[in-house]
Amino acid sequence: MRLFILTALMLLAACDDVAETGEDADLLITGGVVIHPDRKTAPRIEDIVIANGKIIAAGPDLDDRYNAKKIYDAQGRYIIPGLADMHSHFGNGILASGEDDTTEVLGRHLFFGNTTILNLGSSQAWPDRIDDLRARMNAGELSGPRLLAVGSLMTMTGSHPTTTIYSAELQDKIAEIVAQAPEDGPIDLAPLRATTLVDTPDDVRTEVARVAAWGADAIKLTVESGPSKFGDNHPQMTPAMIAAAVEMAAPYESPVLCHISSLDELEACLTGGAAGVVHVVTPEEGELPDDLEQRMVDEGFIVIPTAAMFEGWAKYADNMDLLSEPPLDAVLSESERGWLSAPVMKEMFGSTPEWNATLDRVRTHLKKFNDLGGVIIAGTDTGNPYRFAGYALHEEIAFYVSAGLSEREALATATTNAARLVGEEGEWGAIKPGLVADLVVLEKNPLDDIANTLSIIEVVRNGRIVDRTSLPLN
Ligand SMILES: [Zn+2]
Repeated sequence: MRLFILTALMLLAACDDVAETGEDADLLITGGVVIHPDRKTAPRIEDIVIANGKIIAAGPDLDDRYNAKKIYDAQGRYIIPGLADMHSHFGNGILASGEDDTTEVLGRHLFFGNTTILNLGSSQAWPDRIDDLRARMNAGELSGPRLLAVGSLMTMTGSHPTTTIYSAELQDKIAEIVAQAPEDGPIDLAPLRATTLVDTPDDVRTEVARVAAWGADAIKLTVESGPSKFGDNHPQMTPAMIAAAVEMAAPYESPVLCHISSLDELEACLTGGAAGVVHVVTPEEGELPDDLEQRMVDEGFIVIPTAAMFEGWAKYADNMDLLSEPPLDAVLSESERGWLSAPVMKEMFGSTPEWNATLDRVRTHLKKFNDLGGVIIAGTDTGNPYRFAGYALHEEIAFYVSAGLSEREALATATTNAARLVGEEGEWGAIKPGLVADLVVLEKNPLDDIANTLSIIEVVRNGRIVDRTSLPLN
């Protein structure tokens, strides 16, 4: 009898032992349907275990193997990796004209589940400024997504965006800086803009060396003779300049990304060896030549389409009531709604049959490129009219589904494909052990309807549930 009691006590102790020495965790998300955009297998119910900001385990029935400080019951809900917007801008005062809107743009991204953004330069995004924003985020003083950045966008003197979309006042200031600058060498416009003027392959080498040594996550080149409505007469970067950027960026493994708006610019980027383009282009009539599409795929050339921007200009200018519908009604400021509803916007951006035909050509190209094995990466060009930070990414991936990609493929464009572009697939972009715990908990299944990516219940960033109600949005 004594032996039996002893054994029973030992067994009890053993049970206690398991409970007490089960690995500690900070957060355990139980019972949710986990969607892996990087896997073709059907989603299943899994527990996700998080410690020190990282996923330490993910799989079925893990809940009683860990001692978690906090348990989040996700039964009946769907979990996807945090989303990434790989073409974004901030700081140009689009929320309230003339003011720096960085804080609100970062807040909106997180509110809508974007846990990573790649800033492609222009406003408020030169290296010191990015360092400062990252430091404030690390210190918990500022909320926002993982901030990737190019440090400065490179463009030729007299080309887009400095002589096109910049205000007349800004163009005058830049002309003054150019007049006073030495004849050779890049002209860094910071802190006026996170933009550098480069006119020769040597200028490009000098500037790429500067931003790459700082830690640029990518290199942004504006290879542009237009864009169209501003005329086709701006200086266009040559393949030799693109090749110079590629050569200098290679040791840093920093991908060279080109802004383009025409097929000849696309070919220049391919010839120069760039990693890809940050806008989709199609011919004015007909489809992209088969051999060109195949060449893009063969060379691993990526496309960040910003397709929903082209669609959104017309969509919102045609129907400005959309600005007052959920979820935009809750996030837009009055001044923003005001200028986006001005009659001039309808004249500038309203749809035409030609524009609708262009969008159809974009869909055809993206579907074919995807089917050939080409890599599409989601980016919005937030900072432009009707490209609402955070929300725009949901429109972008929905566009890909409208083009014929599956819902899973569309989710991959904003998760695994995005992380792979910057060589960080071992850090974020999927739900697996070792990766940062950036997640979005959804009420409805995005594989049933891609619009369900907007049924956001929680956003998890760095392993912590974000208080979405306290984020600055406007
Ligand atoms: Zn852009």
